[in-house]
Amino acid sequence: MENHKTDDRMEDLMQKVREGRGTDAASMLDYCTQIEEYAERAGDARLLGFSHYYKGRTYYLSNETGKVFEEIGEALGYLEQSGQWELVAASYNLMAIVSVGKGNLSFAIEYYLAGLKYCKKYQLIEVESRIESNLGSLYMECGQYSDARDYLEQAHLDYKRVPEEERSLASLTAIYNNLALCYMKSGSLEKAEEYIRKLETECEAHFEEMDYIYVNCMRARYCHLCGNISMRDQYIADIQNQLSGDVLILDLFDDLYDFCELMLEIDRGDVCRNIGEKLKAFVEQTGIANMQRKMTALEMDYVKKTKDRERYLKTAGRFYELTEIVEQENRSMIVNMLYLRKSLERARERCRKLEEDAVELTEKSERDPLTGLANRYRLTNDSEKIVEQCFAEHKPLSFEILDIDYFKQYNDRYGHQAGDDCVRAIAALIRQMESDQIFCARYGGDEFVIIYSGMSAEEVCERAEKLRQDVMALHIERRYAEGSFGVTISQGICHDIPSNGNKNWDFLHVADQALYRVKRRGRNRLCMTDIHGREIEV
Ligand code: GH3
Ligand code: MG
Repeated sequence: MENHKTDDRMEDLMQKVREGRGTDAASMLDYCTQIEEYAERAGDARLLGFSHYYKGRTYYLSNETGKVFEEIGEALGYLEQSGQWELVAASYNLMAIVSVGKGNLSFAIEYYLAGLKYCKKYQLIEVESRIESNLGSLYMECGQYSDARDYLEQAHLDYKRVPEEERSLASLTAIYNNLALCYMKSGSLEKAEEYIRKLETECEAHFEEMDYIYVNCMRARYCHLCGNISMRDQYIADIQNQLSGDVLILDLFDDLYDFCELMLEIDRGDVCRNIGEKLKAFVEQTGIANMQRKMTALEMDYVKKTKDRERYLKTAGRFYELTEIVEQENRSMIVNMLYLRKSLERARERCRKLEEDAVELTEKSERDPLTGLANRYRLTNDSEKIVEQCFAEHKPLSFEILDIDYFKQYNDRYGHQAGDDCVRAIAALIRQMESDQIFCARYGGDEFVIIYSGMSAEEVCERAEKLRQDVMALHIERRYAEGSFGVTISQGICHDIPSNGNKNWDFLHVADQALYRVKRRGRNRLCMTDIHGREIEV
């Protein structure tokens, strides 16, 4: 009962974390820590993966990118181990986004492609569409417009395959916006307009504050290219208004940077300075050197226009310093990547070990410890399948029960330990018979079951007779039974082609009756009957 309550509490916390949109980072981190502490006590990989992933995501959304890799690196192994593939793909997406921010595009592509691999393997369309959209932006940033369009269009197609209730208009907005930008930058204004219309008819009604900012950046550029100066200036004014609050987030950086470049291009140094200063303060707070360097480059372009040589040189010096820091960061990203690979390998190793232990455990639970033969549990399972198969293939089937003769007395006379040795010695002979057609099990006590499938009555009798001889040839001393000086066995066999409705227990029951006949007739021999109990002479 206590456990059940705790689980409910965890589900509750997980729900809160899933629904959080990064607005209240402190509570999100607190929920994740509570989940993590519980998960560590319980050794629960699913919860550990979940909490580390969402911590990483929260750090990203609250612009603390430095801690993202740490958490995601911790999460990935557990996510894989517990098969949470959607979060695995989302983790790679997140690491890629952060790598783009840090200016390491080749790592970013690697991470995106790794994420896509999981999406395709486990059919995670929603994440797939998001990653393709991000890859599109990345290619666009590199000036590869045709590849960029391919990815963005694929992202759009996949978006339409996502079930309606899981779709997020924010994703569609990003796809349309980037497609419009992409067409604009490669010179097709008409296609760009088509996507702007789509944005306006399908998405704009549900825009959030930040959607307006980046869509307006794009629309300002579009109007500029079309020569619609009054509309362009309207959008410029809108953006300035929209940026008056505290709305800056990492996702907006590229769009605003692009917008500042446009402002320089059209001699609106005032707007560029105004927004550039906000962007610079924000970027400094995130501590991402690559972005700071980009801002410094923008400042150099701006200062160049003002002809302030001294400030230009100072800015160039700062640019150089930041370049060194970026390089240092790149090196530490490589270290991160190596660490991640190692911890993934460790997690996979843990998984393999767990699987091996599970197999070993199953194996143990299905074997009789004294003899190593299949136990009664396995006999029930396997014999059912064998009967079904022989019935389906219309093949003959034989169930043999064999029992050690006068074994109670053997124990009384030679002791239980010697009794065990005797059981083991006979079991070893039986084990040697195991093959594709012969299944052997310890039924319990001094009784064993041997199932022969697809073998004729003659073949079965021959094998059973040989076993009886082999047991006698062991010459296990038994001096109490009249006329015999060695341990012997008695065998009852039911041989028939199973008909519809015949069960394993029918065969076993008839074999047991045949064994009873042998015991009555004096032991150390075998008796074979068909399923109706009619004796078969061979
Ligand atoms: P019968 O010829 O009619 O089979 O006579 P029996 O004495 O063998 O009678 P039964 O098969 O009913 O007795 C089985 C005896 O086997 C009972 C028990 O003392 C002994 N036994 C059962 N399991 C074990 C075991 O694991 N180890 C040892 N040492 N003895 C066992
Ligand atoms: Mg016996």
